[in-house]
Amino acid sequence: MNTLIQKNISLKRFNTLRLDSHCDYAITPLNIDGVVEAIKLSEGKRRVILGNGSNVLLTKEHYDDSTAFILMHRLDDLDIVDNEIIVEAGRTLHDLAWFTMDHEVDGYAFCEDIPGTVGGALLMNAGQWEYTISQYVNWVEVVHCDDARIERIYPQEGFFGYRHSAFNTMDAIIVRAGLSIIKGVYNDIFEKIMYYKRERYMKQPRNYPNAGSVFKRPYKNGESLYVWKLFDATDMRGHQVGGAQISDKHPGFIVNVDNATSTDCVQLIEEAKRRVKAEFDVDLELEWRII
Ligand SMILES: Cc1cc2nc3c(=O)[nH]c(=O)nc-3n(C[C@H](O)[C@H](O)[C@H](O)COP(=O)(O)OP(=O)(O)OC[C@H]3O[C@@H](n4cnc5c(N)ncnc54)[C@H](O)[C@@H]3O)c2cc1C
Repeated sequence: MNTLIQKNISLKRFNTLRLDSHCDYAITPLNIDGVVEAIKLSEGKRRVILGNGSNVLLTKEHYDDSTAFILMHRLDDLDIVDNEIIVEAGRTLHDLAWFTMDHEVDGYAFCEDIPGTVGGALLMNAGQWEYTISQYVNWVEVVHCDDARIERIYPQEGFFGYRHSAFNTMDAIIVRAGLSIIKGVYNDIFEKIMYYKRERYMKQPRNYPNAGSVFKRPYKNGESLYVWKLFDATDMRGHQVGGAQISDKHPGFIVNVDNATSTDCVQLIEEAKRRVKAEFDVDLELEWRII
């Protein structure tokens, strides 16, 4: 068996905002052959690939049969082969970080607290501070959606950018990656993980479901601006629509404080954009992927 097929399921556990969207049709590949199978099974439908759903907004309360959700979380092998980390796309960054620490591999501590999968991270070149996943990539395998062909890609200069990769312009599913190994020291890696985690928990609202930063950092006249400063100046900190709130701890985040719906989130986003445009003539751009 290569895939699991489910009908009429809640997507609540597949998005970290915990919006209770439903879909009529979902396929979970259990291995790479299952991804090939999923592509064939979903022919003619709109495909939505979900890793851990930590960077998406599900805008509909119900997705009918014309959309196929492909849920990647069971594609999760992780191993070291010939001095290279081989990781499947559905494995979490969290697991990757602890695995590398156990094997005294340096560089991946920054991944531990980013709640996505390797596939989602490669697509948007996830990272924090000076680290991004692309720094460690030797190759990535994808399955093309038009002909179900598997291709191994060796990314060249320009393939990855800030929170961006060329995967965004491909109609393909990321299935596996080969990552580099740099020798590290167990205790040092452990210290880094703990330090990063503490820094992030101090600043971010972790007591409510959320999907990370909502907007990209905007620019005006060449100057990079802070979203939270714009929100403070426009009285958006703590602003709430239904169950969705601009976090009062970190206004860069929208948090689900009370059974928020997708409509609550969309209205809150529109209000934030409207106020910032009116006050500062700045157009906010979403970091979230809209489904
Ligand atoms: C509390 C919190 C903190 C965060 N901190 C950070 C941070 O520090 N740095 C950062 O960069 N991000 C951060 N994020 C955002 C998010 O975790 C990352 O963007 C992560 O890489 C998304 O991975 P995912 O598996 O959840 O992707 P999803 O949200 O499931 O999907 C995101 C996009 O990738 C596509 N996709 C997913 N998997 C595949 C695949 N296998 N093949 C093709 N397309 C795929 C989806 O279709 C979608 O378009 C944070 C989020 C939260 C909730």
